[in-house]
Amino acid sequence: MEGGRSALEPASSAFFIGAAEVAAMARRLGLTAAELLPTLVPTAQSLARPPISHFPVGAAGLGSTGAIFLGANLEFPGAPLNQSVHAEQFLVSNAAGHGETTITHVAVSAVPCGHCRQFLQELRRASDILVLITSDGPDAAYRPLSRLLPQPFGPRDLLLEDSPLLMEPRDNALVIVRPGEEDSLLSSKALAAAKEAYAPYSGCPSGFAVVDGEGRVYAGSYAESAAYNPSLGPVQAALVAYVARQGVGGEGYESIVGAALVEMEEAAVSQEWTARMLMAVVAPRCRLVVYRCRRSS
Ligand SMILES: [Zn+2]
Repeated sequence: MEGGRSALEPASSAFFIGAAEVAAMARRLGLTAAELLPTLVPTAQSLARPPISHFPVGAAGLGSTGAIFLGANLEFPGAPLNQSVHAEQFLVSNAAGHGETTITHVAVSAVPCGHCRQFLQELRRASDILVLITSDGPDAAYRPLSRLLPQPFGPRDLLLEDSPLLMEPRDNALVIVRPGEEDSLLSSKALAAAKEAYAPYSGCPSGFAVVDGEGRVYAGSYAESAAYNPSLGPVQAALVAYVARQGVGGEGYESIVGAALVEMEEAAVSQEWTARMLMAVVAPRCRLVVYRCRRSS
């Protein structure tokens, strides 16, 4: 998300391998890009931060542009378990932050939980996403998500056919209510994230941005699920961006010193109190400012 969507391919990082590098790796190893994914799952697993369960989960996904995105699970001691981020959600939020519009293949270290099978329904052609579970052993093979979740409930049950889905481009056309408040780096990044948020069910988009002690900003967008509970909050999305830029041996969240939440005024779905709770737990020194926004037209 940092820097927004760009036509230029960003440099590869621990959680992102650009399409050109994927093609070169595949050529070098004599594999297809889809065959590369399971070989990257142990790396993704090593990036997980699960201090409660001590059960690291790693996922690697292939985007429609040919880039590969990794995901890992995050757990936050002191906060309720429903604040955790699953590897598949990390992967989707990470890919969306890079401007990718859909995922065609996912390799993951453990059987995807029901929550993640549901969350993935928000992607275009979700039933056709091919999933490989590396813990199946040498016989592990790709199979469509429709095999893991037959008879899915999802966007098609609630949205119009041509509505943009999760990861697809959108501009929520929001402005911050109080003039001038969008001028700070943090509030402008959080507003940009809110504009890209996926909230077709509640109509309450939101975005979150954090800054570390060296002035580096990381932002993330709220992502809803048709089933509501598997939705990924904006704080989690920003923490995904933070972890994704750090990679192996990255700093803890305590290096986050400031944060901004942008959400609708009088939002039926408000992130404020959850954001205050979670940031108090993971980064107690962090100063969080909440900005209200409204539709610009
Ligand atoms: Zn899961």
